[in-house]
Amino acid sequence: MEKTIAVIAGDGIGPEIVREAGKVLDRVCEKYGHTFHYTDVLMGGCSIDAFGVPLTDETIRVCKESDAVLMGSIGGDAATSPWYKLEPALRPEAGLLKLRKALNLYCNLRPAYLFKELADSCPLAAKEGGRNFDLVICRELTGGLYFGERYTREIDGLVTAVDTAVYNENEIRRIAVKAFETAMKRNRRVTSVDKANVLDTSRLWRKVVAEVAADYPEVELSNMLVDNCAMQLVKDPEQFDVIVTGNMFGDILSDEASMITGSIGMLSSASLSDGTFGLYEPSHGSAPDIAGLGIANPIATVLSAAMMLRYSFDLQEEADAVDAAVRQTLADGYRSADLMPKGDTSGLTAQSCSELGDRICERI
Ligand code: NAD
Repeated sequence: MEKTIAVIAGDGIGPEIVREAGKVLDRVCEKYGHTFHYTDVLMGGCSIDAFGVPLTDETIRVCKESDAVLMGSIGGDAATSPWYKLEPALRPEAGLLKLRKALNLYCNLRPAYLFKELADSCPLAAKEGGRNFDLVICRELTGGLYFGERYTREIDGLVTAVDTAVYNENEIRRIAVKAFETAMKRNRRVTSVDKANVLDTSRLWRKVVAEVAADYPEVELSNMLVDNCAMQLVKDPEQFDVIVTGNMFGDILSDEASMITGSIGMLSSASLSDGTFGLYEPSHGSAPDIAGLGIANPIATVLSAAMMLRYSFDLQEEADAVDAAVRQTLADGYRSADLMPKGDTSGLTAQSCSELGDRICERI
């Protein structure tokens, strides 16, 4: 198979972790006889430094013409970086929001599961039989509160800020379809999360999701209010299979879900459009505090590359091989700094970002 991949290494630890994901993809090509062509493009702070804007038309063009996009992370330390002295529309994160819109990446899939080998890092209370959850958050990414009209102006003598949450039925329907399709490949349960006791957008959301559910009689649908969901995620995450929710609720819940695994450096994500096109990036940010030290954990980016193989290229065996190699690397005791327990480290071997990438490649 021959594929083209646009690569946005980005800022901070981005280049370090993307390099390791690239090594893993090269190893997959070598083993299974595929060819991937990479094109490097800039986005975020590095694009501001080079071109004065966080996202150029050229980057959008290369991404659109590629089969998929692999991304590290963008942004810097908001307190010290000059990028954050610019007006909001010119800051690194504005580039990412614009790219999501330009590529019509309306569905963000974020798996959160507990690796058996890292179960000790899970901050949740112990449970009889051990903690064992495996869920996916399916977040709407190009609508809702983050894309509605916003302004700050003086109204009746008071400075007033307004943000608008907008969803139309088509935007809800297409993300609901992605959620039910995802559930069909998993445990066939969808929890739709909203705030239907208060918000009109949520009431429409609930109605449209129920309509889509009628096309998937094998999938069990339940509805949950977002405040309850935030609680249930720390109380009993085992109850969830696929959670589908709007942009802002998904933003918050997916970060919460990532923390209950105990290791932000492990969590992958896929942002999907219609068809097979997608952008794949770790759930974490650019970690400016450890950039350049060679100690970043590359696993979230490697697992994101595995999602690319699975969702954009339909290479299930290859994706399984990468997932299995990550598991085996952990089972063999290799750990990046963030995965090292505070106490007893016997049987574990500390690895740099690059060494951990090598260990994973060796196991494919
Ligand atoms: P962060 O996720 O970058 O870092 C939070 C903490 O986790 C830090 O202590 C960091 O060192 C650690 N960490 C994160 N990834 C790690 C990894 N792979 N290995 C080891 N440790 C890791 O969040 P932040 O500090 O709030 O944000 C930093 C910058 O990243 C900001 O500019 C923010 O806007 C940006 N950001 C970008 C994205 C993205 O590119 N999609 C997402 C979130 C945040």
